[in-house]
Amino acid sequence: MLIRCPSCLCKSRIAASEQLSNETRRTYNQCLNFNCGVTFTQLTSLEKIIRSPSQGSHPPDSTKQPELCLNPNQMDLLVGEPMPCIG
Ligand SMILES: [Zn+2]
Repeated sequence: MLIRCPSCLCKSRIAASEQLSNETRRTYNQCLNFNCGVTFTQLTSLEKIIRSPSQGSHPPDSTKQPELCLNPNQMDLLVGEPMPCIG
């Protein structure tokens, strides 16, 4: 996800984030432009569900989607707590 600096409109990076609720996450961003360097926060929130699961929600199957399952070395700061998996 590209997040532009609000000051110079260059790319920024997400340095850290925190989950505020199941629907909202705050990211701490830093502009990559050395001549700017603005830091700022941004909120990412669920707006609405476009399509609900046809048969209800179920945890991911670790044999089919291991990347979605518990991994203590996971470095993706945008992903919240890993889900417990089946399988
Ligand atoms: Zn900037």
